[in-house]
Amino acid sequence: MSYRADITIVGAGVIGLAIASQVTREGREVYLLEKNESFGQEQSTRNSQVIHAGIYYERDSLKAKTCRESNRLLYQICEQNGIAYRKCGKIIVATNEVEARALEKLYVRGKDSGVPLKMLSRREMGQLEPNLRGTAAFLSPTTGIVDSYALMCYFLGKARGNGAQVAYKTEVIGIEGVTGGYKVRVKDPGGDFSFMTRVLINCAGLYSDRVAEMAGIDINKANYKQHWYKGEYYSVSGGKNKLINRLIYAVPMGIGVGVHVCFDIDWRLRLGPLSYYVDEISYKIDDSRKQALLASSIVKVLPFIEPSDLDPETSGIMAMLQGEGEGFRDFVIKHEYDRGLPGFISLVGIDSPGLTSSPAIARYVSHLVNEIL
Ligand SMILES: Cc1cc2nc3c(=O)[nH]c(=O)nc-3n(C[C@H](O)[C@H](O)[C@H](O)COP(=O)(O)OP(=O)(O)OC[C@H]3O[C@@H](n4cnc5c(N)ncnc54)[C@H](O)[C@@H]3O)c2cc1C
Repeated sequence: MSYRADITIVGAGVIGLAIASQVTREGREVYLLEKNESFGQEQSTRNSQVIHAGIYYERDSLKAKTCRESNRLLYQICEQNGIAYRKCGKIIVATNEVEARALEKLYVRGKDSGVPLKMLSRREMGQLEPNLRGTAAFLSPTTGIVDSYALMCYFLGKARGNGAQVAYKTEVIGIEGVTGGYKVRVKDPGGDFSFMTRVLINCAGLYSDRVAEMAGIDINKANYKQHWYKGEYYSVSGGKNKLINRLIYAVPMGIGVGVHVCFDIDWRLRLGPLSYYVDEISYKIDDSRKQALLASSIVKVLPFIEPSDLDPETSGIMAMLQGEGEGFRDFVIKHEYDRGLPGFISLVGIDSPGLTSSPAIARYVSHLVNEIL
């Protein structure tokens, strides 16, 4: 064993990168290990790129707190560092009485969490979005979009600038608790080797539960077993992006935020994610779910969308603690000393709004690290 790190971070998605940018400082040896050829090739670039305001989550949950804090932080980071973003706002819209009741509940929950929201009259809705149809709606003015790749480049640059060492094609394959830290076994193109680290931070995204298991955590007892939730996006062609000025969401009637209108930073229009649980990682999509999309509320509120405008475009897979039919699950961000793993920090179930929450999560983890080192 030739190396010794103070902090080792497993996974260079937006969470690992944000943490690396925060915990690096003079005199600390920080390693960021990533099994893929580069950073951010899994959840962190296969998403809607929405800067959420924090409407959907239980008020005192980590999701709500980190999302609210990060909403403010992210706009600042983007503004100060030339990262492309748009604070375009979003409208959540109901199409019938049942959805209108759910919309009202969501509005109350968001307001209760301190999120700025405005209930819209039909007239106001028509003024803001003349091409939108619906029976009731509210506006979230602080929702926006961010170029997630550019955000990760910023975190990476900051981490490297502060002295972090980033290793790609380097997969963590074993973890053993030893006196004063952990022996980490990794596989890279040159073969296998091990090194010592005092603190180990698990930000392995879709594989966080597996990395937790490597450290000896019983993921069933700990309730850390993750489920993979795939979301498909459809591009909308025909210049229809000019007919909408904001992100538009249907009222979520199941898991997650539901199918919505998303824009990329160039204002290209997409609908998605059309989501379902999967057992394997495959980003392939075909148009087999197009009928379901056409029948969904989001298409009802955007009557200008024709079936021929929609084409399958891309997909992403999310690491969810919430299994099919189960209730709300919060992020797990925890120093595992009470499991006999001092210096081991778990980040499990970092599903949406993980991209938005990344700066606040990094601050939170940095506090945990400072208590250890
Ligand atoms: C379809 C979809 C839509 C979403 N929309 C939004 C949105 O609009 N707004 C929002 O805020 N959030 C959104 N999210 C959630 C957000 O994308 C995630 O919460 C966030 O990207 C999680 O980042 P991460 O770094 O934890 O995971 P990842 O980006 O998956 O990164 C984890 C990294 O760990 C690496 N890794 C895994 N195992 C190992 C190992 N053993 N050794 C070394 N490296 C390893 C992986 O290769 C990967 O690069 C969405 C997610 C999806 C899938």
